Amino acid sequence: MRILVVGAGFSGAVIARELAEAGHKVTVLESRTHVAGNCHTERCAETGILVHVYGPHIFHTDDAEVWAYVNRYARFQPYAHRVKATVGGQVFGLPLSLHTINQFFGRAFRPEEARRFILDDQAQPSQHEPRSFEEQALAMMGPALYQAFFRGYTEKQWGLSPDQLPASILKRLPMRFSYEDSYFAHRFQGLPEAGYTALVAGILDHPGIDVHLDCPYTPEQGQRADHLFWSGPLDGYFGNRLGDLGYRTLDFERFTAQGDWQGCAVMNYPDRDTPYTRITEHKHFSPWERHEMTVCYREYPRACTPGDIPYYPIRLTQEKLLLAQYERLAAEECGVSFVGRLGTYRYIDMDVTIREALDAARGFLAGHARRSATVAAL
Ligand code: UDP
Repeated sequence: MRILVVGAGFSGAVIARELAEAGHKVTVLESRTHVAGNCHTERCAETGILVHVYGPHIFHTDDAEVWAYVNRYARFQPYAHRVKATVGGQVFGLPLSLHTINQFFGRAFRPEEARRFILDDQAQPSQHEPRSFEEQALAMMGPALYQAFFRGYTEKQWGLSPDQLPASILKRLPMRFSYEDSYFAHRFQGLPEAGYTALVAGILDHPGIDVHLDCPYTPEQGQRADHLFWSGPLDGYFGNRLGDLGYRTLDFERFTAQGDWQGCAVMNYPDRDTPYTRITEHKHFSPWERHEMTVCYREYPRACTPGDIPYYPIRLTQEKLLLAQYERLAAEECGVSFVGRLGTYRYIDMDVTIREALDAARGFLAGHARRSATVAAL
């Protein structure tokens, strides 16, 4: 079969590879000049540092098959992500841990004492299941920690008050009553030594795959294919005819310095009066390399307008209604599969993207085998 894949991020690359290995001829179209989508990494010409061009990406997963998959295409270096936050001129660890609680309240609690203190003296449980980010945060940690670490950051990140946002966003960040300060609690964690772009290029490196960069999709190309895998924006496929699905985008303000600027890869700035959300210092993502200079990005979230790069799907009530309408159109589309973060309008981590892409490719191949068997039997 002639397969067309639109988008050369993890979704598109993994699907292309699985189908090429099964003997199909795959063409991949990518509108940007590089593969790997928003995971793209690039060596900075001035400093030689490997830069996460579209913001920090740390690979972490509990999925042993996905971990084995990425390790087939790249050498991974062990890396445990640790995040700090500057709040009111003081530096704390994130996610909230026993250390953060003790530092913030000037105490020396042991785990059970801290748990009781948060539960009895801080938390404001609601009468019902928390309906918003704010209710969830108040029930979990109380107003002092919420206002210091979450309210301002979330307002800047999402451009909305946390009482309008779903509780699920906060569930990405656990609160711990131990000194464990790794940002992620997954079994496998690491960074590809040569960067994500080399990893994705490795996945795409197969004689059955033809990659075209700087090549936006046209419907004529779709008509020439037997099946299309679409990993671009769902609304974009339909010419945005029902309206735009809302996203947040990011602006990065780059600066360089000598030596070590902040001593860690990511420093969050939750204070309301700091206009950016965080500073990423890229050389800390490659601690096995040595560089005299350093390159940092200040990160400013804002509303995504046409022409901007979409990052975070907003998924509030209005967007979900529009999404359901686009999903109905998508279900009626013959010979097209909508995949990945943009194709399904969900905020998913890299490991989940790869898992879903593997499943989508296998489902497609199984369906194809069934169809071929039926035709042969006729
Ligand atoms: N968040 C926050 N303060 C922080 C870090 C995160 O309020 O210092 C909130 C914010 O709303 C964010 C959510 O927690 O959208 C999830 O954080 P995570 O680090 O998972 O976001 P990512 O950067 O991966 O999108």
